[in-house]
Amino acid sequence: MKVGTVEVIKGEKKKGYIQVGTDTDGSPFLIPVLVAAGQEDGPTLWVHGCIHGEEYGGAASIIRYFQELDTNSLKGTFVGVPVVNLPSFKDRNRISPLDGANLNRIFPGDPNGSYSHRLAYELIQVIRETADVVLDFHSGGIGAEVPYYVIIDDDKTETALKSMDLAKKLGSKFIWRSEGESGTGGTITASVMDLNIPTVTVECGGGNVTEQHEELFKKSIKYAMQAYEMIPGEPPKLDEYLIVGNASFVFTKEGGLFVPECNVGDILNKGDKIGSIMNLFGKVVEEIYCPEDNSYIAALGHRYWPTEPGQLITESMPIESRGK
Ligand SMILES: [Zn+2]
Repeated sequence: MKVGTVEVIKGEKKKGYIQVGTDTDGSPFLIPVLVAAGQEDGPTLWVHGCIHGEEYGGAASIIRYFQELDTNSLKGTFVGVPVVNLPSFKDRNRISPLDGANLNRIFPGDPNGSYSHRLAYELIQVIRETADVVLDFHSGGIGAEVPYYVIIDDDKTETALKSMDLAKKLGSKFIWRSEGESGTGGTITASVMDLNIPTVTVECGGGNVTEQHEELFKKSIKYAMQAYEMIPGEPPKLDEYLIVGNASFVFTKEGGLFVPECNVGDILNKGDKIGSIMNLFGKVVEEIYCPEDNSYIAALGHRYWPTEPGQLITESMPIESRGK
């Protein structure tokens, strides 16, 4: 098996590149890839970060996990791509400076499109040729924080059941079961699912990357590898899972400084205070409330960071069901 320029060799850790297209100056986009292969055969776990270029926690955790991984106890292959979206990463931006695209809304891509579309297309080809299971790392980006939780794209297939089974082994009580175009249209997970490859999105942190964020991301890789019997040990099984459905996205109406009055991961009811916007004279110009009952706060703007009208300030997700 080859992944980009890397020839996979049993028992070895290798580094190389996946090349996709060229930059404006003609230089190739060389996407670093980290491959660790066990002595024994087994599945290939593919983990990528920075599909949105300013979500650095996943990138760092993939690098750290690779450094710490012992190939002697590994069955199968770990493929880590810390930063899939190089232009967006270099621009420290969610979207690509080359064509303005949000990479995670344009899968399965287009081999004749602008750079992001080509990138999406090529990524799917490489995943198709190499991966048995995929983890997709995200965060709240620079301007927001998210709790540690997981997302699956429930397209009602056998692969969705396998993805849910994996999601339940990653140590998060909260699972966003996203259905259809409204939640996951054009995402990499939707396209990976179309290849019948189980996949889970892992969300964690945003803004600064703390040691805790790193640990949570790394644990998700470890648990996924345990779930697929690639390394020794059992992934956790929780007493209860809370399944959330459609997300409500709450946008600010006023500019100013955001003052949060809850935490990510809280469960709030309709009318509970999420926070307020304070103008530069210290006056509260807007109060923000939870729009629905029994809602998981899955994203929140940072304390005292500036906002502009129409900025996404929180995501709340009503809990649909509880169960095993
Ligand atoms: Zn993201």
